[in-house]
Amino acid sequence: MNLRVPGPVPLTDEIIEASSEQMINHRGPEFADLINRMTENFKTVMSTQNRSYLITASGTGAMEAAVVNTMSPGDKSLMVTIGSFGNRFGDIAEAFGGEVTRMEYEWGEPADPDDIRRALRDEPNYKAVMITHNESSTGITNRIEEISKVVHEESDALLLLDAVSSAAGIPLAVDAWDIDTMSTASQKAWGAPPGIGMITMSERAWKARESAKMARYYFDADLYERYLQRGQPPFTPAVSALYGLDKSMQLLLDEGMENVFGRHHERAEQARQGMKKLGLELFPDESVASNTVTAVKVPDDVDGVELVSRVRKEHGVVLGGGQQKLQGKIFRIGHLGWVSKEDIDGVIKAVDAVLKDMRG
Ligand SMILES: *Cc1c(COP(=O)(O)O)cnc(C)c1O
Repeated sequence: MNLRVPGPVPLTDEIIEASSEQMINHRGPEFADLINRMTENFKTVMSTQNRSYLITASGTGAMEAAVVNTMSPGDKSLMVTIGSFGNRFGDIAEAFGGEVTRMEYEWGEPADPDDIRRALRDEPNYKAVMITHNESSTGITNRIEEISKVVHEESDALLLLDAVSSAAGIPLAVDAWDIDTMSTASQKAWGAPPGIGMITMSERAWKARESAKMARYYFDADLYERYLQRGQPPFTPAVSALYGLDKSMQLLLDEGMENVFGRHHERAEQARQGMKKLGLELFPDESVASNTVTAVKVPDDVDGVELVSRVRKEHGVVLGGGQQKLQGKIFRIGHLGWVSKEDIDGVIKAVDAVLKDMRG
């Protein structure tokens, strides 16, 4: 199978092997070496000195950790959404009693920093701005460096970033861009098995935590900080997933992050140009198209659900379909993690063959 959904991504043989190693005591010295090395490597990849934690959870858990550690029930926050994942941050904040203002863009559009500036001027009391770096449902990368500047210029709000499908695949410098919390997950561009959520917290975010009253237990950052001082996690971690992620972090750093980002850009270009050559239109404007997920419009004369299903059954290529209101209207090609030229060639050939056949 050529698994081309935006996570979980296929594992390289080295990472499969690493993930199948024997268990160790998570309260012992070997584990302390592992978690200390991984935390340092994670910070290096994210270009940050901020407090950073590896949490056994999916990406949504790492997003929940960002929300519950920085806000109190009744706190106002601004959720900026350009697709289905963008809404999730707001849903989490509301579930814990937050008062969320939703700035929703048409799916297919990126967020506009000027709109965010205006919203912050209209309401000076937002505790946080929550936004997605790379919206996997629409294949768009938001201009976060610029948006972060606006947020910090115009307000005291924290910037909570969903970088689940961008971190380790698309440039993102947590400290230089002044990101207060950044959440990501092992099964995306990190190229590791699912199971590990990761979060960074700025000093500002850490201070906010002291007065934040949202209910939290499993995701209480204070626990992760105190245990990390002893080289431990507060609860039993997904040891196998950590092994895989440890290996992938070492491979990424050996390759060099500039090269890793370059490789993602190349595969994305290959996918975009390949689709255009088939006469298909990209869903977003190319200037904001993501380097980890390519979203492609399904032509009007073709049933998009059937297209995705036949590409899988007849060619073993597993694409992402359109989510929610985009179901049948777009399909998505995941090219995050370790992806070869051949993998993308396989996608192009499969889509070409099925389209020709469907159109008779
Ligand atoms: C995959 C994804 C998530 C959700 O991650 P889970 O690991 O499934 O919880 C959130 N945001 C974005 C942008 C994603 O791509």
